[in-house]
Parts: sequence; structure tokens; C-alpha cells
Amino acid sequence: MKRYDYLIVGAGLFGAVAARKAADAGKKVLVIDRRPYPGGNIRCERREGINVHLYGAHIFHTSNRAVWDFARRFVEFNHYVNSPIARYGEELYNLPFNMNTFYAMWGVKTPAEAAAMIERQRREAGIAEPRNLEEQAISLVGTDIYRKLVKGYTEKQWGRDATELPAFIIRRLPVRLTFNNNYFNDPLQGIPIGGYNALIDGLLDGIEVRCGEDFFADRARWEACCERIVFTGRIDAYYDYRFGELEYRSLRFEHRTLDLPDFQGNAVVNYTAREVPYTRIIEHKHFEFGTQPRTVITYEYPDAYGPGKEPYYPVNDARNTALCERYKALAAADPKVIFGGRLGEYRYYDMDKVIESALKLEL
Ligand SMILES: Cc1cc2nc3c(=O)[nH]c(=O)nc-3n(C[C@H](O)[C@H](O)[C@H](O)COP(=O)(O)OP(=O)(O)OC[C@H]3O[C@@H](n4cnc5c(N)ncnc54)[C@H](O)[C@@H]3O)c2cc1C
Repeated sequence: MKRYDYLIVGAGLFGAVAARKAADAGKKVLVIDRRPYPGGNIRCERREGINVHLYGAHIFHTSNRAVWDFARRFVEFNHYVNSPIARYGEELYNLPFNMNTFYAMWGVKTPAEAAAMIERQRREAGIAEPRNLEEQAISLVGTDIYRKLVKGYTEKQWGRDATELPAFIIRRLPVRLTFNNNYFNDPLQGIPIGGYNALIDGLLDGIEVRCGEDFFADRARWEACCERIVFTGRIDAYYDYRFGELEYRSLRFEHRTLDLPDFQGNAVVNYTAREVPYTRIIEHKHFEFGTQPRTVITYEYPDAYGPGKEPYYPVNDARNTALCERYKALAAADPKVIFGGRLGEYRYYDMDKVIESALKLEL
């Protein structure tokens, strides 16, 4: 007799929603995670009374009312609206690109003036068929925005010159001709009151969870204890990298506590110059309108992926896409396992899409 209907590998958002769904359907579920705590990349740690996003800034946003209502079974959301600032040298700009950005960049005051400026720069660049990311960006937003706000940031993120990056990475760059600094277009947005750990704790309430357990450290035992597996780790690892490894970009986070109440006056500041080695500084208290006497900030450094590092961003080029298809073909013929989440499906996934996809599982 198998002791569990489902073994869920990974207590991140996908695993936790899948576990909740199975448990609600009366199934016997065990969740394991190799990290010492549940939550995956939305895990927070409390420092100075502030919820510190350990794996980068996380803002929940969605257009899907069912996903929003599902999450609100476990937490209420605050009214945080993401409005990042871009810093280029000593210059500050609002993001996403909107009338506030264009006013600071060119002094233009109306949508017509801004549109005309962008159009003029596009025309002057004279790029008919963009051959790389640089040409693609210039043909979308003109040279000034590209040079100050896109080039350095993108080159740091990918570790390559913009002229060596494929154009498809930025099929479009959002340009808004209104004075609206809300980064997202989704109507529903916020940060869980009590932090993301409260969401994960709610999802996993009453479910058996064992942290510090790596599936591969005792694979035979884990496979034997359950009827089926929901696997949210790397799909290539599950199949022992038999066709080769999928590529990733990594990140490195440096958290610092400062003895001052406010460091930058905003949750997210992007550093867009290439000479600055980090891409963003996050000041966590601003996600929850904190008034603590001290503050915690995080420097986010892009990093090459390698052994011992966390695989954050899939590199969705032709080689990796083809490789992933081969692993997915193995998975489709494997009745024991269901793959889900950012590593199981090898895709960048926002949190709402993760919830949506886990809720569709037939468990
Ligand atoms: C820097 C950054 C910022 C982001 N910001 C946002 C944002 O603002 N808004 C938004 O909607 N989304 C954001 N996201 C996306 C968000 O992080 C993901 O949607 C979500 O965390 C994915 O959940 P998951 O369960 O698929 O993966 P994960 O959170 O990675 O969970 C997978 C879990 O599986 C475990 N695991 C893996 N292998 C094994 C194994 N062999 N044995 C046991 N356990 C294993 C891991 O330890 C991990 O806990 C961001 C992502 C990044 C990288």
C-alpha cells in the first residue's frame, strides 16, 4: 500500500497550491522541499519587523478574478502599487515608460509631443529589420530611452552586449502616453498582509510538509511512498540530464540592515547604467508602508548560472526550447509524474499564472 496519493516535490507556490487542491479533494498528500523552509522563491524573512523578500521583489498582480479570490481565502492584500524608479547616474526617471519619464527625459508636456519625439528618434535611427536587441529597442522607443534606460540594464541582466542579444527578447517595450506610474496593467494588485509566508502557511495548513529533504537524495524511497508525484524541481534533473542541461541565468542577493528609517523612498529602484554592477535595490518596508525605525535593503546582482547557484531565469533560445521539448515528450509518456511551476515547465511564470496553472491540475 502506498501511504500517499501524492508526493509533491517543492513547497513553492506551485507545490503549495497543488497540495491544497489535492488535500481539499480528500487526497493524502506529502510535500517535501530541499530548502529548510517552505515558500520557494516567495519566501520572506522577518528582520527589524520588516518582511524581507529573500529571493527578489515580489508583487502580486493579476487580471484573473478566480486566482485573486483563491489567494484571498488565505490572505488579504494591501493597496501597494508597483511604481519603480530608474536611476541612470544622477538622473531619476519613472517607470514604466510614461509621460513622467518623457517629461524628465525631454521636457515634453503632452502626449502628442512625446509621441512625436519617439517617432523622430525611431525614424532617425532608420532601422528597417532589427537584427539584434539594440536595433529592436531603438526601433521601438528611440535612442535616448534605449541608451539611458534599456541598454545597460539589459546587458547586465543577460551578461552580454545588446548587439549580441537576439531581438525577440524584447518584442515590445510598453510605452504609455499618460501620467501613470503603475507598472502593471492588471486591475488587481497588492502584497499579502502579513507577507508571503502567511499565504504559504495558509495553503499548507493541515498538510504534512517535510523541509530539508531532497528528492534525489533518496529517490527510490520517495517514489515508493506515493501513487503519483507532482514535481516542481528541474525537469532535466528528474530525467538525469540525459539529453543535456537546460541553461539558466542566476541572481545574487545581498541584504543589508541600515540604521536609518528610509534609504530610497521607494520599494524598487532600478540602476540602469552598465558600470553599476547591480540591477536593482529593493527597500522592503515600502511594500507594506512600514514605519520601523530601521530599514532593510537588498542589492540584486545578475549572475551567471553554475553549480551551487539558484537557476532563476530560463534562457528560452532555440537550443533550450528544443531540449525542453524532448524532456516534455518523456513526461507526456510518464503516468507517474506531473511537472509544474517555473522549473518543472522551464518557463518564466508570474505568481498568478502559477496559481492558475496549479488550480487546473486534475488531482
Ligand atoms: C527575481 C524574481 C522576481 C520575481 N518577481 C515577481 C513578481 O513581482 N510578481 C510575480 O507574480 N512573480 C514574480 N516572480 C516569479 C515568482 O517567483 C514565481 O512565479 C514563483 O515563485 C514560482 O513558484 P514555483 O513553485 O514554480 O517555484 P519555486 O518557488 O522555485 O519552488 C520550487 C521549490 O522546489 C524545491 N525543489 C526543487 N528541486 C527539489 C528537489 N530535488 N527536492 C526537493 N525540493 C526541490 C525548491 O527548493 C523550491 O522551494 C519573480 C521571480 C524572480 C526570480
